[in-house]
Amino acid sequence: MTTVLEVKELKKSFGAIHAVQDISFKVKAGEVFTIIGPNGAGKTTTLEMIEGLVTPDYGHIQFGDLDWNRNANAIKMMIGVQPQSSAMFDLLTPEENLELFATFYGKARSTEDILAMINLTEHRRNRVKNLSGGQRQRLAIGLAMISDPEIIFLDEPTTGLDPQARRNIWDIILQLKSLGKTIILTTHYMEEAEKLSDRVCIVDQGRIVTLDSPAALIEKLTVEREVRLSFLDGVEAAEEGEIFAKDLSSVSRTERDATSLTIWTPKPEDTLYDLFKFTKEQEYQIEQVSIREMSLEDVFIAFTGKEWRD
Ligand code: ATP
Repeated sequence: MTTVLEVKELKKSFGAIHAVQDISFKVKAGEVFTIIGPNGAGKTTTLEMIEGLVTPDYGHIQFGDLDWNRNANAIKMMIGVQPQSSAMFDLLTPEENLELFATFYGKARSTEDILAMINLTEHRRNRVKNLSGGQRQRLAIGLAMISDPEIIFLDEPTTGLDPQARRNIWDIILQLKSLGKTIILTTHYMEEAEKLSDRVCIVDQGRIVTLDSPAALIEKLTVEREVRLSFLDGVEAAEEGEIFAKDLSSVSRTERDATSLTIWTPKPEDTLYDLFKFTKEQEYQIEQVSIREMSLEDVFIAFTGKEWRD
């Protein structure tokens, strides 16, 4: 796939603060590329350098053959940046905001079209100051779509929103992706990164810690799964179950708390098959069985050594 953006060895300091120390990556056409990382990791500074708002101390930013020094106007037509809430006009309506922003560009997607995509047709004539947080965020994304750009930058588009409002924004992002747009996203929400992204770049202290698809990142760490079962026939049955499980070649370790047994295994199907054969023979009943999947959050903790704060 074509590379639409390449950043190489980006660096930026603010006085003694080395916000971005060394960031390089390539973004492919049509992908959702997500940057996640703890507070102060350098995500916003990285985006702002790419968007042409902050000048890097060092490094290269290329949009195909274009760069900010020689082709600033062409790049501005190619990219869409979600404005800060404060950049919108509170006393105007969504429709008026879209029409006003459209006058900044030569080519513009129709207001009608954008209002439908961001699901604000019904509220087109309400003043922005009366919109909910989610509706304002949707309008901000709409404003980023005005010039019908190929690449759209969304810096924490769902921060502070309730789960339903966040899902509405996810739907818009997925719609943009289905239109072939490239989306570059930052987020604080792991679940969001996992659901939306083709590739995730984990940034910590101004450097990339790891970069891959969510599935591949999880796979790298998924050496074993956690299987939990609960025995209905009391503690003794659970003890017997644990002794049996410990002897299985597929099991790496076990832990038991009264009637509840946790087993770590790289082959959960094999383990459960053998264990169920045993419990059936013994006529033990098992109440709950769960296999815990690794999540992107586990990956984050493994790579950065930090707890995720959400
Ligand atoms: P958050 O998740 O909190 O938004 P972030 O990963 O986006 O964080 P940045 O906003 O890029 O991180 O900030 C990286 C570091 O650079 C922080 O220590 C921040 O305080 C500092 N910084 C960012 N912009 C400036 C500035 N204009 N002047 C001084 N320091 C800055």
